[in-house]
Amino acid sequence: MALRLIPSTDTLAGADLASIDNILPFRRPSAEAGPPRRLHLSPPQLAGGEMQALEETLRSGWLAPAGPIPKAFEAAFAEAAGFDEVLAVSSGTAALHLSYRVLGVTPGDEVWAPSLTFVATVAPAAQMGARITFLDVEPGSWTLDPDLLRDALAQAAREGRLPRVVVPVDLYGQCADLDAIVSACDRWGVPVLSDSAESLGGQGRLRPAGKGARLACFSFNGNKIITAGGGGALASDDARLITTARHFSMQAKESTPHYQHETLGYSYGFSSVLAAVGLVQLRALEARVSARRAVFARYVAGLADLPGISFMPEPAWGRSSRWLSVMLVDPERFGADREVVRRALDAAGIESRPVWKPLHLQPAFRGSRMIGGGVSTGFFERGLCLPSGAMEPGEQARVVEVIRRLARI
Ligand SMILES: *Cc1c(COP(=O)(O)O)cnc(C)c1O
Repeated sequence: MALRLIPSTDTLAGADLASIDNILPFRRPSAEAGPPRRLHLSPPQLAGGEMQALEETLRSGWLAPAGPIPKAFEAAFAEAAGFDEVLAVSSGTAALHLSYRVLGVTPGDEVWAPSLTFVATVAPAAQMGARITFLDVEPGSWTLDPDLLRDALAQAAREGRLPRVVVPVDLYGQCADLDAIVSACDRWGVPVLSDSAESLGGQGRLRPAGKGARLACFSFNGNKIITAGGGGALASDDARLITTARHFSMQAKESTPHYQHETLGYSYGFSSVLAAVGLVQLRALEARVSARRAVFARYVAGLADLPGISFMPEPAWGRSSRWLSVMLVDPERFGADREVVRRALDAAGIESRPVWKPLHLQPAFRGSRMIGGGVSTGFFERGLCLPSGAMEPGEQARVVEVIRRLARI
């Protein structure tokens, strides 16, 4: 099917919204349209005010990844995320790449991360020539197991091969136990980089996601809890790290009138156009967290009585943003396995996705070391992510209904 392009117009306000409707998958069909709309996992959601912000930005002439708008976004993000220093960049992956660079990762270094995560957590480090060691997660939070980490660090210290950096991941809105992880790493002087791309708005031990790590990375990709249509951020309480990262993010250009480069950097700036959207979206963060937690609570109310169905837990010390609602299907007790559920939902026009396939099982990481592994693998085999964005209660009831029909009751 050919994609219908949006006609170019002089101003955004004059853009042909009807044609935007046709290419955006998540727009509600008009009243006379036939089948109900397809439900997606985490579609982008407007906060209201983006159009006006975009128009003002375009009129202002500030489009580049520089000037007052990215700066205002960084200040607002620092406030919302609870950090002193923020650098906004073109993606969450770019933020991770810059973090590995400023933490001094070089070829042959070891980088340690949980296996249960999205590939972007460690892909930049692997591309820089680091060797990745994966560790299992703990069942109570689905995040990096601090006890396993503590033992593995002691062992690595005895063998004289401590990692350059440890990278816990805040999974599906749930923060890792950063206190325990940082104290295990401090003992050996290993810095902690938190991949908090999925968990802006989440909390661990009464602190915002990533707070307490040397650096924390965030994403404003279209499927995240707030989006700028793409983008990311690197946050820290150490101003020097952010200053260095900023230098690398802009081609490592020295502040001379001519172009002078003592080292090489990247082009990772955050466009003013995206920053304008991000500024509006940030204001909706708290409302988004409440809404996603309410979606999760409705799944629990509608499904938790079924045999063999359970949900990603929330440890007593955490408050998940519930970016995605995730359930586990025990095939023996439920009467159908995860894939049967996924296919039934798909046939009913509902997107769902298996939990991240652990990275130690990915062909791209063949030969990487894995410490533990049974917990992550079990979550992959039985875990399913359900639609978690804005939905009418009736739409969420459709999801619940399809799953209930499959149950052995
Ligand atoms: C989304 C995500 C990223 C990458 O963010 P992008 O902005 O898409 O580059 C990194 N890590 C995790 C865990 C993510 O979910």
